[in-house]
Amino acid sequence: MAPSYRKSQEMFEESQVYIPGGVNSPVRAFKSVGMDPPFIARGNGSRMWDVDGNEYIDYVCSWGPLILGHRHPAVMHAVQRCLERGITYGAPTDLELTLARMVVEALPGVEMVRMVNSGTEATMSALRLARAYTKRNKIVKFEGCYHGHHDSLLIKAGSGALTHGVPTSPGVPENIAGNTINARYNDLPLLEKIMAEVGREVAAIIVEPAAGNMGLVPAAEGFLEGLRKLCNQYGALLIFDEVITGFRLSYGGAQSYYNVTPDLTCLGKIIGGGMPVGAYGGVREIMQMISPAGPVYQAGTLSGNPLAMTAGIATLEQLQQPGVYEELNRKSALLAQGLSQAAKAAGASVWFNRVQSLQCTFFTSQAVTDFASASTSDTKRYAAFFKSMLDQGIYLAPAQFETAFVSLAHTDEDIERTVEASFNAFKAAA
Ligand code: PLP
Repeated sequence: MAPSYRKSQEMFEESQVYIPGGVNSPVRAFKSVGMDPPFIARGNGSRMWDVDGNEYIDYVCSWGPLILGHRHPAVMHAVQRCLERGITYGAPTDLELTLARMVVEALPGVEMVRMVNSGTEATMSALRLARAYTKRNKIVKFEGCYHGHHDSLLIKAGSGALTHGVPTSPGVPENIAGNTINARYNDLPLLEKIMAEVGREVAAIIVEPAAGNMGLVPAAEGFLEGLRKLCNQYGALLIFDEVITGFRLSYGGAQSYYNVTPDLTCLGKIIGGGMPVGAYGGVREIMQMISPAGPVYQAGTLSGNPLAMTAGIATLEQLQQPGVYEELNRKSALLAQGLSQAAKAAGASVWFNRVQSLQCTFFTSQAVTDFASASTSDTKRYAAFFKSMLDQGIYLAPAQFETAFVSLAHTDEDIERTVEASFNAFKAAA
């Protein structure tokens, strides 16, 4: 029998009266899979339950922060203890010092770090800093990479490879969009051309070192090294947006995993352990330009707040345990392998990308290496797959161009159940 989503549907209907589109972040509305979203009541380990009592194995994991799964005891206890002392003071605490030290010790490219409240704030502030440091205005980003919703990065490519960007949203001024250049992910020859033309005006190249916002697209061999070289050649800063990949691809993030060191690193998600957080860090000389050490202004009422710092510290402490990443990646490989076999058995033509515990099933037979190839995915087939999985209790990202997150809480039995369910779902989407 198909599950009932009646209570969720009622709540969604009423939410649309009070909240634009009924949600506080667009993809939660399930628009691209053509259904209403379940309203979640609680989570535990690898599972979530909605208000109608449906149980799900969760591969969204709050879009990445929950690498330990829901309600990890170490995180819960630490947050409860912190809460007993108060919520926020707007003054320095030892918790900020501890998390900053942990981040600096983990990431080769980070000598100093500033905490903020979201990934968007992190990339926005990193760009301001890069512009101030280089005294240049232009930014290069890659089509299909998402870095948050501030003006400079809410930009798509104009027509023609070397044209400057155009806003992807009304309200983004064209003169701001004009300072952002869109390049193609994994296309170094195009980037070399762009840099030969405008490289001396470019403050920074910002990149997701494994792109997680056009589905999952891994950096091709040599791509990140190529970016590093071009930045050195033209005096631009290299910014790794590690909001997804930080403490995910390895404890040292994508920069350790790929052995390429950026000038600035943006973080979020995992370092807040499920609390709102962001951070940006980099080499001391650049970071010392931030107020009050230097002239580049950036501030935040709740930045470095005790609850987020505590949840982050507790999460990173768990990730420091030996064998944690090996286990996480083993589970992710098991899932990818199982899904791939199920797709084959069901006669569905799909393409799988995986980097460590991030993965994506694209409904296309083409290799997916950039935004254009990702866009060949059949989103109608994805919607059919998604709906069948949801009805069978598997909660995937409600859009094709997102990433599945495997957590340490997923058990081999969870993965087995997921693979079993996927056979029917691939059939529905074949
Ligand atoms: N950068 C990347 C790579 C992201 O995936 C996201 C959000 O998903 C952001 C930045 C923005 O982070 P936030 O949603 O916390 O503002």
